[in-house]
Amino acid sequence: MPTEEQINDTLRAVVDPELHKDIVSLGMVRSIKQPAPGAVDVVVSLTTAGCPIRSHFETAVRQSVMALEGIEQVSVGFDVLSSEEKQTLQQRLGRKDGLPQGALAAVKNVICVGSGKGGVGKSTLTANLATALQMEGKAAAVLDADVWGYSIPRMLGVHGRPMVSAERKILPLDAAGGVKAISIEFFLDKPDQAITWRGPMLHKAIRQFLEDVDWGELDYLLIDLPPGTGDVSMTLAQLLPQSRFVIVTTPQPAAQHVARRAADTADRYELQIAGVVENMSGFTTPGGERFTIFGEGGGQQLADDLDVPLLGKIPLQEELRVASDEGRPLVLEDPDAPAAQAIFHTARGVIAATPQQLAVLQEPIGPPVPEITGSALPMAP
Ligand code: ADP
Repeated sequence: MPTEEQINDTLRAVVDPELHKDIVSLGMVRSIKQPAPGAVDVVVSLTTAGCPIRSHFETAVRQSVMALEGIEQVSVGFDVLSSEEKQTLQQRLGRKDGLPQGALAAVKNVICVGSGKGGVGKSTLTANLATALQMEGKAAAVLDADVWGYSIPRMLGVHGRPMVSAERKILPLDAAGGVKAISIEFFLDKPDQAITWRGPMLHKAIRQFLEDVDWGELDYLLIDLPPGTGDVSMTLAQLLPQSRFVIVTTPQPAAQHVARRAADTADRYELQIAGVVENMSGFTTPGGERFTIFGEGGGQQLADDLDVPLLGKIPLQEELRVASDEGRPLVLEDPDAPAAQAIFHTARGVIAATPQQLAVLQEPIGPPVPEITGSALPMAP
């Protein structure tokens, strides 16, 4: 069996395509373990969670270790370098201008919004949640990855064709309230054109939405996933190992096994679940009488089951449906409406559940330059 040193040596063949050096001398090999004879686990530390070259590393590490005698199985895991480690890496490279990073370098949190089935209000909540986050002072954007049932443009009231910047990046469209959005709809020739992509085509499209879109600085990028499990979730899990899942479900306890499947997908790809949102939780008449049309308790049950917080319970409210149909998020239109209030509560829950920067931003070098200089301020008497 090869020794750890031999495995480490063979990893010198794995070169970071952006930094042009091998991962061993870059200090990016976090750990090498041999859990059983013939099996090797390697963990590679990336410069940013949104690192698009992750699959390059995975293949290259596997190939180089497999080439050693006696190795039958290689598993490759990933984590992210801490700020201090990145600074050390920067010094090692002799760079002052920061590390090259993917298009998501300035995105702090990526949240995938998923559901077990369609029609539970996943897109409605994604659109309103992004707007609510923006209203809470967080820069937010929506990536509509629900490629077969794209409805984010309609719900945010944003249509058209994106422009391309001088750097050849796609510029997202601006929706009401300052939310940025990208959807497959913006690239279709005919309205309501049906998408028939699967597998590799889909993977490529999602990848392009992540890599070639100039998302700019964002606190939250919300990704509206297609219902159920499948190709899109898998692609996202590969490209964004640090993203978190929020699962939307209805209150029927009997529907929980369906929602559970979305949670299982997250689990399978080792994505952390930030929480559950229960939608359509009861309807209150103008007279104050409450009907639990879709049952009760399912959201809490799923949250308990997954051992994550229930981030919010959004009541059924006609205004939410009407505002969505008209492209005006209810949280902007009528922030005091009960459904809007419940969405604000959920947004605050999301903020609390994601306190750190996940796709870690580069530390600024040196003290920040003050924006307002003394001379621009009025003199005190
Ligand atoms: P999904 O994305 O899960 O398929 P949608 O967000 O498209 O579901 O929602 C399905 C329909 O239900 C839409 O017409 C939407 O406006 C409506 N809807 C969603 N949540 C609510 C709610 N809490 N109250 C009233 N209507 C809702």
